[in-house]
Amino acid sequence: MPSVLWFRRDLRLADHPALAASGHDVVGLFVIDPSLIGEVGPSRAQYLAATLESLNASIGGRLVVRVGDPVAIVPQVAREAGAATVYATMEYTPRGRDRDDRVANRLSADGRSWCAVGSPYVVEPATTYGASGQPYRVFSGFRRAWLSRLGEPPISLGEVNWVALDGVGASALVAEAGRRRPHFFGDLPDGPSLHLPGAGEPAAAVALERFASRLERYDVERDRPDLDATSRLSAFLRFGVLHPRTVLARLDGPSAAAAKLRDELCWREFYADVLAHHPSSAWRAFRPSMASVRVDRGPRAEERFRTWARGETGFPVVDAGMRQLLAEGWMHNRVRMNTASFLVKHLHLDWRWGAKWFLWRLVDGDLASNQHGWQWVAGTGTDAAPFFRIFNPTRQAERFDPHGDYVRRYVAELADVAVPHCLRPGAAPMSGYPAPMIDLANERTEALARYAAAVHPSPT
Ligand SMILES: Cc1cc2nc3c(=O)[nH]c(=O)nc-3n(C[C@H](O)[C@H](O)[C@H](O)COP(=O)(O)OP(=O)(O)OC[C@H]3O[C@@H](n4cnc5c(N)ncnc54)[C@H](O)[C@@H]3O)c2cc1C
Repeated sequence: MPSVLWFRRDLRLADHPALAASGHDVVGLFVIDPSLIGEVGPSRAQYLAATLESLNASIGGRLVVRVGDPVAIVPQVAREAGAATVYATMEYTPRGRDRDDRVANRLSADGRSWCAVGSPYVVEPATTYGASGQPYRVFSGFRRAWLSRLGEPPISLGEVNWVALDGVGASALVAEAGRRRPHFFGDLPDGPSLHLPGAGEPAAAVALERFASRLERYDVERDRPDLDATSRLSAFLRFGVLHPRTVLARLDGPSAAAAKLRDELCWREFYADVLAHHPSSAWRAFRPSMASVRVDRGPRAEERFRTWARGETGFPVVDAGMRQLLAEGWMHNRVRMNTASFLVKHLHLDWRWGAKWFLWRLVDGDLASNQHGWQWVAGTGTDAAPFFRIFNPTRQAERFDPHGDYVRRYVAELADVAVPHCLRPGAAPMSGYPAPMIDLANERTEALARYAAAVHPSPT
């Protein structure tokens, strides 16, 4: 009797606990849920379709792809296959958990069982607690506990006979995607990015080996967007094409660079843990005391948002980042911090607007890492940067893109400018490049006043 393996954020065959548990005869299923895919932007949908094509090829063209509500589809496929059990990797996002409960109930009513095995993380979210028995709210404590729980080796797999059933191709994803675009995106570009990264397990293996050969400088160069210094593994991790356990097993070691990489993977796990414990932090301030910072709204604010999203602010490193996001569906971490800070602290806009745009355009868009990355910048999250720390985009560029190579790569108007980030208000305009949309010092003062009013509200 076959079992069904319902693939979700685990689009791989290697190091796959749920697949290892599924037995010899397996129906591989992916469900395109219109209620989720409607919120997925064009690049991630295209990338996901390419990832599914790769998975399908690796199981001899037998991946079953169906469109509809998983609560109906999964039991139906189990019936068609004559499967007693549906296996899946555990899911931790608020909506994912609720959906899985409903699928499990429906299967049980049908006399079949549901078995969730393994997780997209090295340490399962919502299983790490401090000495007080409470979940961790700051990274350092979580990190200590997390490091003490590492060490599980990758899981090996027996032979699998993939069982065929009817199913549509993965391209149906692209057709279903992007139906629920927020109104304030207005006329922002809506096609997929032209330069998407490679997809699927073979591409992930190449990326992992490529990074392994460059790992030694990671700790000193990872903040430099002008260099090719980070792993670029985020999209593979996002879709579970690569498990972080595999990454750790390959790149482990005593070096400072390996330790830094462990820390970065730990941030991913910390944010997943926080989201699992506090589902409302996906769209609400993790620190309620900071929820009342005044933000601008209305048509003018929305127009400023779109200027930022198009990469036309007149601040070269911000514009380079936003244009990299449009062109590649990815942005360097240091630049994510800078562009996010500019939106929140210089334009005084709601972090959730920026988080929505990032989720829409990022190939690695991940609810936990994205929302908490934004909350960190906005000062509303865990380990939040103190509200008075406001990135100056010019200083940041001078420090992290010292020769201007990153800016020149993405801002065509500045391609011939020797040191492109040293533009100052009042400097001679560059050919076709917008003048700075704000005065940094004035808006910094305004931001400090708004944050101070939220932190120390005046008595009424
Ligand atoms: C505002 C903002 C939004 C972000 N949105 C996302 C997102 O949607 N998806 C996402 O995967 N990451 C997000 N990040 C984190 C980080 O920017 C990306 O993970 C990283 O840039 C991916 O590139 P890389 O794989 O080369 O990273 P590397 O430096 O090679 O790091 C290795 C892996 O560690 C993890 N990681 C690294 N830094 C972080 C971090 N700060 N938080 C969480 N995980 C981290 C990622 O899985 C990454 O692939 C966001 C950060 C900020 C500041």
